[in-house]
Amino acid sequence: MNFKHDIIIVGAGIAGLRAAVECVGKADVAVVSKVFPTRSHSCAAQGGIAASIGNEEEDHWEWHMFDTVKGSDYLADQDAVEIMAKDAPRAIYELEHMGVPFSRNAEGKIAQRNFGGHTRDYGKAPVKRACHASDRTGRVSMDTLYEQCMYHKVKFYSEHYVLSLVIDEGRCAGLVTYDLPKGELNFLAAKAVLLATGGCGRIYKTTSNSFATTGDGFNLAYQAGIPLEDMEFVQFHPTGLYPLGILVSEAARGEGGILRNRLGERFMERYAPTVKDLAPRDIVSRAILTEIREGRGIDGKDYVYLDLTHLGEDRILKKLWEITSFVKIYLGIDPVCEPIPVQPTCHYIMGGIPTDINGRVLMDEKGTVARGLYATGECACVSVHGANRLGCNSLLDLLVFGRRSGLAMMDEIPQHANHPLTFDPLKMPAEKIEGLLKREGTEKIDEIRRSMQSLMMEHCSSFRNEGSLEKGIEDIRSLKERYKNIGIKNKGKFFNYELMEAIELDHQLDISVVILLSALYRKESRGAHFREDFPARDEQDYLKHTLAFQTPEGSEIRYKPVNITRFQPEARRY
Ligand SMILES: Cc1cc2nc3c(=O)[nH]c(=O)nc-3n(C[C@H](O)[C@H](O)[C@H](O)COP(=O)(O)OP(=O)(O)OC[C@H]3O[C@@H](n4cnc5c(N)ncnc54)[C@H](O)[C@@H]3O)c2cc1C
Repeated sequence: MNFKHDIIIVGAGIAGLRAAVECVGKADVAVVSKVFPTRSHSCAAQGGIAASIGNEEEDHWEWHMFDTVKGSDYLADQDAVEIMAKDAPRAIYELEHMGVPFSRNAEGKIAQRNFGGHTRDYGKAPVKRACHASDRTGRVSMDTLYEQCMYHKVKFYSEHYVLSLVIDEGRCAGLVTYDLPKGELNFLAAKAVLLATGGCGRIYKTTSNSFATTGDGFNLAYQAGIPLEDMEFVQFHPTGLYPLGILVSEAARGEGGILRNRLGERFMERYAPTVKDLAPRDIVSRAILTEIREGRGIDGKDYVYLDLTHLGEDRILKKLWEITSFVKIYLGIDPVCEPIPVQPTCHYIMGGIPTDINGRVLMDEKGTVARGLYATGECACVSVHGANRLGCNSLLDLLVFGRRSGLAMMDEIPQHANHPLTFDPLKMPAEKIEGLLKREGTEKIDEIRRSMQSLMMEHCSSFRNEGSLEKGIEDIRSLKERYKNIGIKNKGKFFNYELMEAIELDHQLDISVVILLSALYRKESRGAHFREDFPARDEQDYLKHTLAFQTPEGSEIRYKPVNITRFQPEARRY
């Protein structure tokens, strides 16, 4: 079937919904999501949203900007960071007015708490900057934005899987979806398409990300000739629940939680004497792994303790209710009386589809704009997080740049009509689906996926080196060969998740190679990318963004400069 809209947004997380709210009423807007919209990963966000509203103590957007740039290990584009830090208070009050039930302080104002890397007065001490709704900030923000979309009658294509972007005469003219409940293909024509497809944490074995976070959007863009920026920067969150990887939000440390090793030492005092447990995530994750490598993990195993017991039952239940319930359900441990076993877990990708400050997709290192194509949220790289994202800056990024993408699309759509296409957009996707359904090979999707997840963990997590990265590339490429021989047992039409997972795996394998290659070429250590063979940051050669291109000869790596406006790179001490 064919459908037509002015604007199509792929992704119903906070980024996609925020953009939809901006455009609805002024244009015909549709949102496509492979899962039911409110199940998008944004709903799992726990800790909060950063904004210098200063409700608890003095704060300024300049301090927020500085912390973000320093946290990024000076790789973030500072023009974009300035926009985000300045716009943050407005974004928070806007959410409050839409109906988000933020937690309140004693004066009845929006409550704020500490989060890693957020400081007062350019790094002097931690500052309370994270606005939150207990530890369910993502859930309530998602529900509020979804409610707004429903109220304004945004059209949802729920449980529709996007198979490909349709590029005609150099412009993105829509996309093709596979309607999962019906097993039918649709062409959705649009004057502008926004990718808001989230991250790709599921490439790794230990991750805090939901099952749907498979990185489809990255590869849709990559295969359409768009480069991917800074993909080597993959964030490991220090406190995943051992051994599952489920997130224990940084809010736990924001509220006063302390990390301890086998000897009971508060080891972060050695790694970050000023902010200790509230150092940025790359630093805390590496500290935990160093403790484990040096034999100070609990019982000689690969985890340490997160101790909340001194906080008291009242505070734990009020401020960290959801986390407490997870720990009880999954580990049978009550954090009120016992420490929580934690290990770093793959959490977030700093890189993504390159965009300008208005979400317009950039096609090369010169900044050529792709017509009709936008990206925002975790799948985009604007870049405000550089080599390492600070906690609570992602939800802020989604709100600020989701809105700006909406505004930019409203500007562009009057320039285009929904022309008839010069080709049949359904032909290739139909052949692809048919081809996959005929597969009778012996390889199993699940086995290849598990091998990929283990390989990425082994070769491309917190510590990396040349030999291991090269081996990772070779091994993932051989998985790609094995993929050619998969079998699909379910030949049915309705809710064929086996078919969908086969396509997702293809995306994941391609993205894994891009991550490994980008990491191999960056011969320095910066933020989340730590090369054991090049442990120092190298301003001379690598203060630049990586761009990975898909070419007929394979992947090609190029670079573009970082936009530095206010803060020159300096040593990163906490
Ligand atoms: C457990 C957890 C806790 C977090 N806590 C915080 C926090 O407290 N503060 C903070 O700032 N950040 C936090 N983050 C990070 C933040 O939540 C994410 O970066 C952010 O929510 C991503 O939002 P998004 O809108 O870009 O995408 P998502 O919310 O991931 O949504 C992606 C959407 O894309 C759709 N999609 C993807 N591929 C396709 C396809 N092929 N076809 C159709 N639809 C598709 C999905 O259906 C979904 O609707 C947390 C992350 C996790 C995992």
